[in-house]
Amino acid sequence: MVQKFGGTSVGSTERIKRMAERVMQEKNKGHDVVVVVSAMGKTTDALVRLVSEITSEPSKREMDMLLSTGEQVTISLLTMALQQHGVEAISFTGWQAGIRTDSILGNAHIQAIETGRIKNELNIGRVVVVAGFQGITGDGDISTLGRGGSDITAAALASALKADRCDIYTDVDGVYTSDPRFVPKASKIPSLSYEEMQNLASMGAGVLHPRAVKHAKKHGIPIYIKSSFEKGRGTMIHGRANQNGSTPVIGVTFEADINRLEIFDCNDIEGFQEALMCELASHHIQADVYKQSCRDSLSLLIKEQDLQEVLSILDKEKEKWMYSRIERKGGLSKVSVIGQNIKSQPAIKIDMCKILLENAVRVKLVGESAISVTAVVEKRQVQLAAESLHTGFGLDYEAVMKASV
Ligand code: ASP
Ligand code: MG
Repeated sequence: MVQKFGGTSVGSTERIKRMAERVMQEKNKGHDVVVVVSAMGKTTDALVRLVSEITSEPSKREMDMLLSTGEQVTISLLTMALQQHGVEAISFTGWQAGIRTDSILGNAHIQAIETGRIKNELNIGRVVVVAGFQGITGDGDISTLGRGGSDITAAALASALKADRCDIYTDVDGVYTSDPRFVPKASKIPSLSYEEMQNLASMGAGVLHPRAVKHAKKHGIPIYIKSSFEKGRGTMIHGRANQNGSTPVIGVTFEADINRLEIFDCNDIEGFQEALMCELASHHIQADVYKQSCRDSLSLLIKEQDLQEVLSILDKEKEKWMYSRIERKGGLSKVSVIGQNIKSQPAIKIDMCKILLENAVRVKLVGESAISVTAVVEKRQVQLAAESLHTGFGLDYEAVMKASV
């Protein structure tokens, strides 16, 4: 059994003691338990802030060296809390746990896990507490997996150890049809298939890292998302798709901080587009890259956090593609309606535009993929857009309750 505790769940020593009790409960049921933890509370943000007081261009190696320390604090404290109760336990950093990654520092992908040391400890009856969000590159440097990456560690370990289950304890009590902090009428989804969860997560649902789902799916490990603080059923993610076919839309997601970069006058737009997509992918940066035929330019939608890196990639490409200038527009958001095979149902895109228009949301751009239709809107309208779409597609709590009786 793998248990993962997020930042708020281990935000104070009081909370760490409470989580130790959750670990003991599972251990007492007879499970071998591996625990994965995040840094305490907002520690990682605080570390990032410290850096900004020193430099705006930190070296990636030192950045990962620093950010990986947050989790190291939690593993040792939680292990001490377990030992305090007489539970045999041992903490491991990423490299001690055998987590090998590629060398894309700051956003590394797990390539393999050498589970020997963990298995030895489990065999002698110990609880193993592993630092989330980190691993080691082939060169022996500490790497981090990208923000929110402890989920990935948990799912990848569960997969490598062929665990019966991977429980993700967090500050919400499951996966919702939208983010309940912004869309109060969002309702909890009791169960989701891997694909459905991956679609929600990849388009902005922050409750689980999209790459975690991929690892769990590989060996069919069920992921159970539940609250650290409240009792009650969370959301189970497994292989089976949902049957409730009344609406093909399962959720509304959004990404609040999006930048658009528009690149003008390059000598071969198609060639540049292709090269750029490869380059971004090799840096593990997610972006929408599209041609604007009417303006003869190339546009990129990227997350705010990737802005500096994308600009430096573009700078390196300038000589080759000879573009004249880049225009940046910040303060944008993406709102997406998620569902399987959405592309084959053009009515959804039309409905989406209608709903947004009726609610006076100004749409800058609409795009679609197999699993989603996405609108780009002004950031100040993102909540209005998400709420309107949630209501418009019949996902509001009351509507869901009524449909189920
Ligand atoms: N501490 C890291 C972060 O804040 C990893 C995590 O919480 O999952 O992104
Ligand atoms: Mg998280």
